[in-house]
Amino acid sequence: MKLDSEESCLETDEPPGCEGKSEKWNDWRWQLRNSITDPKKLNEVFKFSPSELEKLEKVILKYPFGITPYYFSLIDISNPQDPIKLQCLPNPEEDNLYFDVQEDPLDEERDSVLPGLVHRYPDRALLTLTDMCPVYCRHCTRKREWQKGKWTRSEAELKEVYNYISLHDKVRDVIISGGDPLILSTNKIESVLSNLRSIPHVEIIRIGTRCPVVLPQRIDDELVSVLKEYRPIWLNTHFNHPNEITPESSKACDRLVCAGIPVNNQSVLLRGINDDITVMTKLCQGLLKIGVRPYYLFQCDPISGTGHLRTSIEKGLEIIKGMRGFTSGLCVPTFVVDGLKGQGKVPLQPLDYVVALEKDYAVLKGYKGEVFRYYNPESINENRHNVQFKG
Ligand SMILES: *Cc1c(COP(=O)(O)O)cnc(C)c1O
Ligand code: SF4
Repeated sequence: MKLDSEESCLETDEPPGCEGKSEKWNDWRWQLRNSITDPKKLNEVFKFSPSELEKLEKVILKYPFGITPYYFSLIDISNPQDPIKLQCLPNPEEDNLYFDVQEDPLDEERDSVLPGLVHRYPDRALLTLTDMCPVYCRHCTRKREWQKGKWTRSEAELKEVYNYISLHDKVRDVIISGGDPLILSTNKIESVLSNLRSIPHVEIIRIGTRCPVVLPQRIDDELVSVLKEYRPIWLNTHFNHPNEITPESSKACDRLVCAGIPVNNQSVLLRGINDDITVMTKLCQGLLKIGVRPYYLFQCDPISGTGHLRTSIEKGLEIIKGMRGFTSGLCVPTFVVDGLKGQGKVPLQPLDYVVALEKDYAVLKGYKGEVFRYYNPESINENRHNVQFKG
């Protein structure tokens, strides 16, 4: 079952940048075992002041951290505003209070039909397998889970989930999420996939994972050959900044794409990290180059402990407007706000493309800002119909 290099259409050589890295470095279990979880380790590198260290230690009691050596190696230590650092290093600002933030503003708990299964939309269900992740993103929507200790769904809970999905034949798309489901053993993943695949009305399986970005070593031959068995599988990953596109992450995505698993990306709009037209354009163009399609750009949800990373909604609209027409349409993600209390995802478009919808004409504004009239054929048909009717 193992993919040979011909079948996976990959070079067997190490990609540039990986040369000389030890075998251990390329082993995802080594990366996890050696994750940085001790603030003293951070202090050795960043040399915090005693009061900074004290604040940090307080924050991580509430919101623990963990950073793979690989992801940590992408930080430019000399840059205090490094975009990788801002995503993974705990920050005293996580303690700030904002009037609108909550633990679970999207009401995922209320929309959970069973432990681990959110069934909010008619034809798709979201299955959370664990709350563990290779890197704990400071902007995480499920930050509330981190205070519950490390958990993984039990076999008994999963049985209930499979049973529920079997009984609900409208569910044709199951999203396996977390935490990061790919942190689990390949055997456990295979068991979940084979159970879901045995349900006839489950047409597609999606996997939401940040492994290609923060632990690309996880996308190894063994895992890819398992995923390949259970296609159609769509993998959604989570790149936020062009600095995350490295030889290692590119290779991880290439492996998946070569095995017939389309990779899409869901970014979160983050203050000081990617809230900029140039940065977002570079990210999305870079993703296309490694075979990854930008899918969603999310407004950062109002989650306790993430307030300092949010931007205005206008910022997201400005970025979409600055991309549409100026670069490949394939590059442009859909900007989405996830509505509070289970209202679901709301796509937002810049408002000014449609200037007016008049009788027979639409008045539109192009990406260059010029306003023009465009015949509206439906209205014309209606007129013709009216003429015939009268005649
Ligand atoms: C985002 C989400 C989905 C999937 O939404 P798509 O728009 O199909 O990508 C499904 N269920 C829940 C609960 C979600 O939050
Ligand atoms: S990988 Fe996803 S689930 Fe895990 S911490 Fe990051 S945002 Fe949260």
